[in-house]
Amino acid sequence: MNYRVLNDELKIDTDKINTLIAGAEPEENQVYDVLNRAMKLKGLSFKDVALLLRVESEEVLKKVLSAAGEAKKEIYGNRMVIFAPLYTGNRCSNECLYCAFRSGNKMLKRVILNMQQIEAETVSLLKEGHKRLLMLCGESRENPLDYFLDAIDAVYRTKWNNHSIRRINVEIAPLETDEFVRLKKAKIGTYICFQETYNRELYGRYHLSGPKSDYQYRLNVMDRAMEGGIDDVGIGALFGLGDYRFEVLAMIEHANHLEKKFGCGPHTVSVPRLEPADGSEISANVPYPVSDRDFKKIVAILRLALPYTGIILSTRENEELRTELFSYGISQISAGSRTNPGAYSGENDSTGQFSLGDHRSLDEVVSSLVDKGYVPSFCTGCYRKGRVGHDFMDMAKPGLIKDFCQPNATFTFKEYLNDFASKETAEKGNRLIAETNAQISKPGLRSKVDEYISRIQDGERDLYL
Ligand code: SAM
Ligand code: SF4
Repeated sequence: MNYRVLNDELKIDTDKINTLIAGAEPEENQVYDVLNRAMKLKGLSFKDVALLLRVESEEVLKKVLSAAGEAKKEIYGNRMVIFAPLYTGNRCSNECLYCAFRSGNKMLKRVILNMQQIEAETVSLLKEGHKRLLMLCGESRENPLDYFLDAIDAVYRTKWNNHSIRRINVEIAPLETDEFVRLKKAKIGTYICFQETYNRELYGRYHLSGPKSDYQYRLNVMDRAMEGGIDDVGIGALFGLGDYRFEVLAMIEHANHLEKKFGCGPHTVSVPRLEPADGSEISANVPYPVSDRDFKKIVAILRLALPYTGIILSTRENEELRTELFSYGISQISAGSRTNPGAYSGENDSTGQFSLGDHRSLDEVVSSLVDKGYVPSFCTGCYRKGRVGHDFMDMAKPGLIKDFCQPNATFTFKEYLNDFASKETAEKGNRLIAETNAQISKPGLRSKVDEYISRIQDGERDLYL
């Protein structure tokens, strides 16, 4: 592939990472020193992260999880951002051995949704109460960037009962810088792309053909995105393809690289775990299985290392584990998801990209979040007020999340309760909103929030600070 070589491109230092993860298990007091530093909520050094990754003792691990829980609560309160994925197509020219959409899977029924079908999908999601979408597709000449920009426009234009999608995040194959300029003009929120595995050798083994087989081109994608003006980017690794400790350290290296070069690290980190996928042998025999215990450790360490970065968890995981992971650092979740294009409006019954662990509807997810004291958030306020990129990070640190995100979360939740929730969810949700608002310590802010909640109750919509 022809692409511009960046002279300050990210290089993953495999030897350095391997040396760090091979070190001895740390002493308890070394771990507690790191946790004390982490509780200052300024992030952790590369070496500190490596040390936490080497923790094996169950007792010490419990301390790591509980420190992450405290950090999560301190920064994010009881808010949980919700979104749904919208797949526009499953045609793909890449041979990623873990994915049902891979080019060699001849059993899969292929589809690329047209604009009418995309509108129908959007209406189905709006009827559920969604306001934030993640749009994705396979990489194919048949769905080029122009098609995808039209698809974004079709989603934003679609209205149902005065409801519309307010933020679209995008997860598509890497683009060139000038193409990112065009994507930005389409008013997307975050551009997300997973490196899958940061281990170059393993990457080669899993990505046999197609544009995605170029490891470094994918590794440089966030640099091109940020050069193209995308403010918020989201990184991730597909856990199960390589040693999880390697992937976590490489993600930290990636985050540090972006911070150093652009003055702003990733807006989100995703933690997908390899799930069974039709037509994929390696998804049935995961090369580097990650146990639930280690998965919790990953989430907790990422929370401590990158305190202001959103951590995204999908419906790949089951309800029980998802709930537990919320308290170790997850701040955004998908709900009511389908991974086959056309599935929301019942137009496609083909198999999805991989199998899901959480099949609940949005209302069921919302109801169980409320039972655990979480305020589901459909908020898009920061992105629409321009609090993005480093502005978001700069403001997040002194308390943006408490002063803006928390109230905005309750406004969007109140809208959801009035317009979409079942009676039972609405009753307990309204109680939770009252309890949450009663805890706001700034009197001016509390009265403003109460006023907005009454205005929403009276029929006003889309209020945010
Ligand atoms: N096709 C684009 C790409 O690969 O970047 C867009 C994203 S793809 C539709 C979404 C993500 O699904 C991939 O990046 C990969 O990490 C994940 N994925 C693929 N197969 C999976 C599986 N069997 N289990 C879990 N996640 C999987
Ligand atoms: Fe295509 Fe993405 Fe699946 Fe790879 S992971 S086969 S690029 S859809």
